[in-house]
Amino acid sequence: MSVIDEVLAANATYARQFSLAHLPGPPARRLAIIACMDARMTLEQILGLQTGDAHIIRNAGGIVTEDALRSLLISHHLLGTQEVMIINHTDCGMVKFRDEELRARLQQASGTATVAPACFHAFSDLSENVRQQVQKIRSHPWIPAHLSVRGFIYDVHTGQLHEVAATPN
Ligand SMILES: [Zn+2]
Repeated sequence: MSVIDEVLAANATYARQFSLAHLPGPPARRLAIIACMDARMTLEQILGLQTGDAHIIRNAGGIVTEDALRSLLISHHLLGTQEVMIINHTDCGMVKFRDEELRARLQQASGTATVAPACFHAFSDLSENVRQQVQKIRSHPWIPAHLSVRGFIYDVHTGQLHEVAATPN
């Protein structure tokens, strides 16, 4: 049995006990989160969130990419979210390679260069990366100044979330 078959069986069990049909689309707690896709972070558990509370936008690194920005603009302007958290984490795989190396490796293995993705967004300084993502949101002309945007690092060894100051200490 493949893992997909296993999770389909789990979904059949879930759907038999389903009780969330009443939930509206807009997040109840008006929170949007952009976080790394790391499998060690179950954000609902880490943050005490329930289904329906928040938009959780995830990608490798928790980067404010063109697409994350697209989702965030829809989240705020069409679905009413008012606070934004950026969440990166310790031991992130994104500090363990460099864009050029990965690009060269894939290019060599496949024998083909590609246009997309234009960038893998690998980085070397975790706190600085968080600050840059916060800044990308804050500086966007379609993000209103009153939107609260804060950056955090999750420690995969303690479960603690630490806020990243807006300027380096
Ligand atoms: Zn990560």
